[in-house]
Amino acid sequence: MTNEQVLQSVLGLTAGPLGLRVLAVSPHPDDVALSAGGLLWNLHRSSTIGLLTVFGRSRWISHNAVNQVKDVEAVTALRRREDMKYARQLAADCDVLPFEDTSLRNYDDVGEREQSHDPASWREQIKASLHGRVMQFRPDLVIGPAGIGNHIDHVIVSDAINELRQVPGLAVLFYQDLPYAAEHDWQSATPDRFAIAGTLDIDIEAALDEKIRNLGVYESQIDNNLRSCVKNHARKLGNGLAVERYWVRK
Ligand SMILES: [Zn+2]
Repeated sequence: MTNEQVLQSVLGLTAGPLGLRVLAVSPHPDDVALSAGGLLWNLHRSSTIGLLTVFGRSRWISHNAVNQVKDVEAVTALRRREDMKYARQLAADCDVLPFEDTSLRNYDDVGEREQSHDPASWREQIKASLHGRVMQFRPDLVIGPAGIGNHIDHVIVSDAINELRQVPGLAVLFYQDLPYAAEHDWQSATPDRFAIAGTLDIDIEAALDEKIRNLGVYESQIDNNLRSCVKNHARKLGNGLAVERYWVRK
């Protein structure tokens, strides 16, 4: 299958679905659901979906979350269960890598969007681990974050996925990171870490209700305000028609 055929199928432009193997990569549990949940819902009946979460260890839960669990092991286990639940909605495989997210690496809410203080060797380790999982899954298409909003964990994963362009026969799409992309400063941002060949606004109108419903499995992270924000963003982006935005790199 050529990259062109894969992308045509994703856009619904082929005569029928091609039965793709799709690996969707999240920096944190919930990123793929927020940013690419519509496309994955469109594809999940005809394709084999794999979900890969990179920063699986965390002590971060939303301020609204019940019980306010702060213990790292408990939060990590809770977030993993939410990821597994989401995977079940898509009949997908789910794999969670044990890297520590910014909540465990001495970043605060501002610092995690600014300068990285992580050692280069550690970033290399993440990249090697991520590339290993990609090779094992043998996808036709990898979907990963564009790094909009500059969250350091998203940037690390975006850079690692960017290097996959060397792999023959593998198509790569970068998703618009939500909720950052819905924030004022980032609404019209385009990826600045690689050259873009094209922007794809993919129609998720038929999948929108399921996408928003499925976000409900991430109880420790996503409240009703965020669900409305994701829904409104999709309609605003498509001038009334719900879309998700993706980029193809040069
Ligand atoms: Zn994230």
